[in-house]
This record gives sequence, structure tokens and C-alpha cells, in this order.
Amino acid sequence: MKTYAETDTLDVIIVGSGAGGAPLAARLAQAGKSVLVLEAGPKFTPAQYTSDEIEAREIYWLNERLSGGRNPQPFGGNNSGTGVGGSMLHYGAFLPRPDARDFQLHTETGRSVDWPFRYEELLPYIEEVESFIGVSGPAQYPWDPSRQYAYSPPPANPAALKMRDACDALGLRHADGPTALITRPFNQPYFGERQGCVSCGACHQGCRNGAKSGTDNTWLPLAVTYGAEIRPGCFVHTIETDQAGRVTGVVYKQNGQDIRQRCEKLVLSAGAVETARLLLHNGLANSSGQVGENYMTHISTQIWGEIDQEVRPNRGYPSLTITEDMMRPKDADFAGGYLIQSLGMMPITWASNIARGSTRRGADLVRTLAGYNRSIGMGIHGDCMPSPENRVVLSDEKDHFGIPKPLITHSYGPNELAMHAHASRLLTRMWDAIGAKDLRILDRAAHMMGTARMGKDSGSAVVTPYGQSFDIDNLWISDHSTFPSATAANPALTIMALALRTADAMLTH
Ligand SMILES: Cc1cc2nc3c(=O)[nH]c(=O)nc-3n(C[C@H](O)[C@H](O)[C@H](O)COP(=O)(O)OP(=O)(O)OC[C@H]3O[C@@H](n4cnc5c(N)ncnc54)[C@H](O)[C@@H]3O)c2cc1C
Ligand code: SF4
Repeated sequence: MKTYAETDTLDVIIVGSGAGGAPLAARLAQAGKSVLVLEAGPKFTPAQYTSDEIEAREIYWLNERLSGGRNPQPFGGNNSGTGVGGSMLHYGAFLPRPDARDFQLHTETGRSVDWPFRYEELLPYIEEVESFIGVSGPAQYPWDPSRQYAYSPPPANPAALKMRDACDALGLRHADGPTALITRPFNQPYFGERQGCVSCGACHQGCRNGAKSGTDNTWLPLAVTYGAEIRPGCFVHTIETDQAGRVTGVVYKQNGQDIRQRCEKLVLSAGAVETARLLLHNGLANSSGQVGENYMTHISTQIWGEIDQEVRPNRGYPSLTITEDMMRPKDADFAGGYLIQSLGMMPITWASNIARGSTRRGADLVRTLAGYNRSIGMGIHGDCMPSPENRVVLSDEKDHFGIPKPLITHSYGPNELAMHAHASRLLTRMWDAIGAKDLRILDRAAHMMGTARMGKDSGSAVVTPYGQSFDIDNLWISDHSTFPSATAANPALTIMALALRTADAMLTH
């Protein structure tokens, strides 16, 4: 890997090496730009990953975040990762495409906001991402017969098979969901041999086989081949500007030392909480007053039930069956919609979710946990609207770098509550239909989005529809913080597609 000197002024510095930072790094490096990616976390090798849930926490972002609101969010493994590869090191690799209607929800319903461009504009980038990283899916996708996936799906685990039965019982369509993994060996250009998925079930602990399509085995090797440097263990805390207010560089902490690196352009890809925190801490790019505002999640209501058969939910690719039939349900009392997917889960994550998301306690909780090996799950990802109630601000507490810890306020509004209630009723009917017992609805939210939204109007958005700051023309944002609304789809595909689009805009700017 090429390395740059501390005295070099880079064409582009990117803060964060995840879904937002990595594709952009690759595109810019391929175009001949000098690119440095500063990543707070360490570099892992696949052999370091372990299915042991405790040890695997090293790939989570564990710096403390304070949580408030009526639906306070657990952070850590639930929400963000760290390391060269970002949160995709431990994401679940479920990769549905966003629904075109979700980009125009305000036009459709008068609620939420429209994205500042139509889905069709992002589609070529979505297809490019899928083709480059490797995505598996069914031969015929019921909700979009035009699309094709390069790899066949991995085998269905018991929860996925039971969800198929439940869908059939209620007359819902179902399919194997799009998954960011390969099911046969492939020699990934610029990376090397990736093995086909072996259905070990440890996606959330890091994939030892290279089967899961992350940024560590796709975009980052491409970026490095074209001269980008990925510098791990570097926590950026200061953004420096000149008298005209333009960015001149950053200061980061590495091994306890402050190091300054200069750049012509800066891209923040640190994720919805850390990107907002950096901007707020440095008092930048906030003439709109929108930095940190409109924090969003996905409504991720789950249902778990027990069946007589031993199914061992830790085994097999965790989420396979999908139905998109609830993207606009006929009986909806809410705007937008939700996806349903089957769920397997590792035992500690599962037990924590049950303890946190249900009211079971004492002997009742112990009995529930003892039923792990007979448990099957399903969960939703539902659209979430921007709300002035939900935000990231700087708290009064400092972290070990001396930077204020972020305080995240998160409360469901009426639309989210109505969607949660609708999903709870439907999921209960589904598991009832196949005879699952002792049903538990878990009220939970996942993923994080918003906080530096894109838009056409500098008064209500932080960045342009291409991710460029309205206030500082050499500052760009490429991560899930730019989402104007959550959409129902798991976010990694959209983030990567947006990253390529932002890179193209930077190259033509
Ligand atoms: C448990 C879990 C399961 C998920 N499953 C799915 C799924 O199945 N499908 C899907 O589409 N999405 C899934 N997601 C969500 C998805 O992984 C994220 O939305 C996405 O990866 C976020 O990309 P990003 O680039 O915005 O941020 P990140 O990938 O989080 O990247 C931010 C990076 O910036 C670094 N960083 C932060 N602050 C600084 C700083 N100050 N200086 C230097 N570096 C910094 C961090 O260490 C991190 O590596 C899941 C997420 C989690 C947590
Ligand atoms: S289930 Fe497949 S993709 Fe997931 S960690 Fe195991 S081999 Fe990798």
C-alpha cells in the first residue's frame, strides 16, 4: 500500500472506511486522486474473526454514547461498527433495494419528505454496487421481475422455512431475500480468493471466509490498488479551516499523538452519530441549524416464538426469507411501509434483545431463555420519518479524547407507532398460523440515519443532493447521515450507491 507523508497535502481525505467512505475512496483513487482514508478502528484480518460473541465485540464501536427519548437506542453492536471496513464488518448482509416510492413519500402521502432526486437516478449506481461486491438472490424477484442476481441464495435456515409457511398460510408472497454474500468461490479483483458462504451463521461477528461482501474485501482493496492509503487507528477530532472558512485539513489522534494532515477536499464518512458530532464539535457547516437534527432509525419490531422442533437459531445464514407485500398495505393507518424478513440469531444477542425488548423478568425470563434452541424469529424494517424530536447533540460529558460524548434522543412519532402496531398484529397472525407458541413481540429499532440531511434548500438541509456542504464547498458528506428519510430498506446498498454518486460529483465539480 502506498503511504503518504504527514507533510503531504492530499487531494482528498476521507474520515471513515465503511459503506460511505470506501466506494468513494475507490472511485476517486481510480480517477488518479491522492486519497487518504483515516479510520478510527483497527485493521482486522478474516482469520481474526470468531463466532464467540464476547470476543467479537472488538468490531463494534463501543465508545460511550448517551441515549434519551421515549425509545432510547442501545448503541454498540446494535448500531455501529469500527475498523477498516466500518459497520459492514459486522452487518447482516441483507441487501434489499430501496423502494422507489419511499423516495417520494411526501408527494405520495403529504407526510415525511421527498428525497431531492428520484430513485431511478440512483438505480445505475445500485446495479454497479451489486455487480461489483457480489450479491445473491432468487432467479425471479416477485416485486421486481426485471432484476437479476449473480449468485444463487444460500440455504434457508429453519426460521426462513417457517416464514415461507407462514406467508403461504396468509396468502403473502415471499422469496429468498437479496443477500450481500457469494455462494460459490470467486477471485475478487484486487483482493483475491473469496470462499462461498458455508452457512455458519456468524455474519454479525465477521465473516472468516470472505463470503460476505463488505468493503474490506471489495472497495478498499480496489482503492489501495489505485494508490489510496488506508490509515487505521486514527481518530479525527479537529477539522481545520482557513480565514475564508474552507477546510485545510484535519487533526487526528494516533497512539496518543495529535497529527495534522492537510487536504484539498474533506469527506466525512464517520456515520450518522460521529459525522454530526465532528461537525458540532468543530462548529462547522451548520448555517441551516440542521446538523444533528432528524436522527432516524428503522422500526425493527421482531417476533419470536417456540416450536416443538429443535432448530438452533445460531445456525445458517440468519435472514433469508423476505416479503415486500407490506410496502404499501391496503389496511395501513400509516404512511410508507415495511419489509419482513426471517431471523436467526446468536444466543447472547438474542437473550439481550429479549431482556431489553420484552417485559419478561425473573423466572418467566429464565424459562423463555431456556427455549432458545426451539426459537424462530421474524422482524421488520419500517420507514421512519424525520422529526424535530430526534437528534444528536453534544452532551456535557467528555470521552477519553476530551471530546463531548454524543447524546442521541429518539422517540417514535404517531406514524412509527402505528406501523409498529400493524406489524405486531400481522407477525403474530403469521406465527400463529404455523403453530408457534409463547410469542414475544420485541419493540426495537435498528440502524441510524439522518443528522446531516441532503436537500435542495440550504435553509433546511446540510448538504446538496450530491453530498456537498452548502456552507463549505470543499467539505462533503458520504454516509447514512445524508438520508432525508429512512426508507424501509436496510441501508448499506443505498449508502454505497450514494457514495459512488457523490464521488462522480466530486470529480466533475
Ligand atoms: C448489527 C448490525 C447489522 C446490520 N445489518 C445490516 C444489513 O443486514 N443490511 C444493511 O444494509 N445494513 C445493515 N446494517 C447497517 C449498515 O451496516 C450501516 O448502515 C452501514 O454500514 C453504515 O455505513 P456508514 O459508512 O454510514 O458508517 P460506518 O460503516 O459505521 O462507518 C463509519 C466508520 O467511521 C469510523 N469513524 C467514526 N468516527 C471517526 C473519527 N472521528 N475518525 C476516524 N474514523 C471514524 C468508524 O470507526 C467506522 O469504521 C447493520 C448494522 C448493524 C450495526
Ligand atoms: S453465514 Fe456465510 S456470509 Fe455469514 S459469516 Fe458464515 S460464511 Fe460468512
